[in-house]
Amino acid sequence: MTVNKWMPSQVDEWLGALGHLLLPPRCLVCAEPGEDRRDLCAACTLALPYNVHACLACGLPLPAAAGDALCGRCLRRPPPFAATVAPLLYAAPLDRLLPRLKFHADLAAGRVLADLLGDAVQARLDQGLPRPQALVPVPLHRARLRERGYDQALELARPLARRFGLPLRADLLRRTAPTRAQSRLDAAARARNVRRAFSAASPAPAHVALVDDVMTTGATLGACAHALLRAGAERIDVWVVARA
Ligand SMILES: [Zn+2]
Ligand SMILES: [Zn+2]
Repeated sequence: MTVNKWMPSQVDEWLGALGHLLLPPRCLVCAEPGEDRRDLCAACTLALPYNVHACLACGLPLPAAAGDALCGRCLRRPPPFAATVAPLLYAAPLDRLLPRLKFHADLAAGRVLADLLGDAVQARLDQGLPRPQALVPVPLHRARLRERGYDQALELARPLARRFGLPLRADLLRRTAPTRAQSRLDAAARARNVRRAFSAASPAPAHVALVDDVMTTGATLGACAHALLRAGAERIDVWVVARA
């Protein structure tokens, strides 16, 4: 991956470990001392906008009374993923932390977000969520990677692959068409924009978890899932830090 040229993550990890030996962890939200060698303090960890009641399939926030359920959209039309882990809502302070990862390659923010996602995945695995056979980051188009120099989905997936002892298959999915930035499009336009934007190498492992930073309408993740299913995968889960 060209990204290694820009962001040698092994080196980053050593520097991170070294940094934590020399400097105490500091909360990225309020700048107080961090907790548990993490750059987030206990109060800010508690105050995060957790996605407590969510659709089991797509992670959409649901009213508390819904319990463990599917949202109306997934009931009407099952999504291409079996389960979504999305522990947080895309609200403050995630609306600051996630752009720091994406646009400023803020490695401390990346570590904290991967930790939070990993904790949520572990909790779901403990409750019986099946372990995937591989992690696949949602790929950036090469042009976007060149302009940004940083691939946030890959950098989130890397520590998760290590933590869960899973193969990281960044080679599996390819973005074949440079899609327009999704943020300015409505849901229908997003779906059109990405429908055929991905292809997957065949054969894909039977059970794959897709990793990304945020799930908004699910159009991008859905298109990735369809590409993997066409390549022979049988079950796709989604692991994202936050749900919009
Ligand atoms: Zn704090
Ligand atoms: Zn749903």
